[in-house]
Amino acid sequence: MFARSLKKIFNFSQSSQKLTVYQLGNPILREIAQPIANICDRKIQQLIDEMLVTLKKSNGVGIAAPQIGRSLQLIIVASHPNERYPHAPQMEPTAMINPQIVSHSEETEKGWEGCLSVPMIRGLVPRYREIEVAYLDRQGNPQTAKLTDFVARIFQHEYDHLEGKVFLDRVESTLDLASEAEYQNILQLM
Ligand code: ZN
Repeated sequence: MFARSLKKIFNFSQSSQKLTVYQLGNPILREIAQPIANICDRKIQQLIDEMLVTLKKSNGVGIAAPQIGRSLQLIIVASHPNERYPHAPQMEPTAMINPQIVSHSEETEKGWEGCLSVPMIRGLVPRYREIEVAYLDRQGNPQTAKLTDFVARIFQHEYDHLEGKVFLDRVESTLDLASEAEYQNILQLM
């Protein structure tokens, strides 16, 4: 009984750790991530919990497993309004395993993006305005969803991480890059 409750505490403290976010230049961010076969494995479930904590503590709207050093096809999409994205829609943080883009609109739209792995830089990135996606949820159930606008943008940004890409690869011109401080000025004007 005592041992079991200790184990519980140990698990809790492990899963509430904020993980180190790997930064641009680390080769793992350029690898193609591997699909996950064993979603119910305790280690995968713990990884999802740790990514949720890391994302929350970073006040981010999305994170991909390669960003915390695991080259696996796992992303979390967690749109919510915040200082950086005041107009973002609110949603429950959602773990998406082995995600796919099934179809997309012809229409693209440029929008500002940042990345926990690319600190202090913002870029105007063209993304499909609407996408249909398929993924497995953390219980291993297949899910499909139609995502639009900001949430579609988050998905495409995180999906890129699984293909070894970062948003800097998607900007059409270096003129579409800004420092964090200048981005804040631009936001004031929007
Ligand atoms: Zn990113």
